[in-house]
Amino acid sequence: MKYNENFEKLPKSYVFSQMAQKIADKKKRGGERIINLGIGDLKLPLFECSVNQMKIACEEMRIEKTFKGYPPAEGYEFLRQKISNEYIDNFISVAPDEVFITDGAKGQLGNILELFGQKSRVLFLTPCYPAGAEANILYGNEVTFLSGSQENGFFPSPPYGEKYDVIYICSPNNPTGSCMTYEKLGEWVNYALFSGSVIVYDNAYSVFVSGDFPKSVYSVKNANKCAIEINSFSKSFGFTGIRCGFTVIPKSVGEYNRLQKRWLGCRCNGVSYISQRGAEAVFSRIGREEVKRRVNFYKTNAEILKIALKNLKLWYNNTVHSPYVFAKTPHGVSSTEFCEYLLEKTSLAVTDGAGFLTGGEGYFRLSAFLPREDILETADRLERIDLGEIATQNR
Ligand code: PLP
Repeated sequence: MKYNENFEKLPKSYVFSQMAQKIADKKKRGGERIINLGIGDLKLPLFECSVNQMKIACEEMRIEKTFKGYPPAEGYEFLRQKISNEYIDNFISVAPDEVFITDGAKGQLGNILELFGQKSRVLFLTPCYPAGAEANILYGNEVTFLSGSQENGFFPSPPYGEKYDVIYICSPNNPTGSCMTYEKLGEWVNYALFSGSVIVYDNAYSVFVSGDFPKSVYSVKNANKCAIEINSFSKSFGFTGIRCGFTVIPKSVGEYNRLQKRWLGCRCNGVSYISQRGAEAVFSRIGREEVKRRVNFYKTNAEILKIALKNLKLWYNNTVHSPYVFAKTPHGVSSTEFCEYLLEKTSLAVTDGAGFLTGGEGYFRLSAFLPREDILETADRLERIDLGEIATQNR
């Protein structure tokens, strides 16, 4: 029977499924409790303001007069308006009808490619979260990876002389934690305008940006002529299980705003009313304070992990814009080998850098989305590692 042969071009399983399998195998062998710093899922619960609003929304659904059926495919006006206001508060003009509510960023990284058509030439700045690239490969697009490195802060410069239809950029970046400067992002925006490309800007970690760095692609001049921004409430509002996010498609970027509305007609029945009310609640004063507190909590976790790595004399990307720590394996050991070693010796599960496409080999990623006790325990266990042993094994 016919099937999509592009599946054969993907790795045998998704990076986080591979990890889950290794953790399950290790559990079967027994030993110390496994601390999972691999997948970027959250362990801390929802904010109370979200939960309260979702309870009210459930109650509305119980009563015939206030019951809601299918939501508007583009999202409820109340939430699109709040998101638009948030941009305006940051001096960026985004109208409510340029905001599309989604069930999170992952699906959106793939769905968006239907706006560009088949056989698009697509560039990914790597290492990066692999979902968008895998979706493009499945769709049969021509996918190119351009790797960053320690030398350029994991963000390469635009490849003038080459032309792509679409450029995916993730900043703050998962896994490296690097955040584009205004200058670097400006280079990419200018390149996109010069070469007629669209930037798909994955901004899922925008709440982690601090200091004088761009919190949105639209804070760079003329980006509203060439960029689509994808965001998520997963990491900011703790919505990995609730599912809600948004995509901004300015009307000034070609036909895509109109096409997205048409796309919704045939491909989407919207996002749950309850989720959208839960998200709306976080745009309140109390909600914003909760986000700030939570972000600081995760950032402190990341700092604790960095100190442990520093004591081990391992290189790590010293950025303050991320809930992840991206570190280099010792003695040139492959990232797969090192992650397996860590799991075996210390029962710490971390993510293999090689799972984040090109440029990730030789690195590993630790997530700071854990309760403080687990982070402190991780730091203790890391102190136990004998790097000399790894060097001997690798000789
Ligand atoms: N984009 C990046 C860079 C991510 O790291 C993730 C999840 O880890 C996602 C998108 C997916 O987010 P969501 O939970 O909204 O689907």
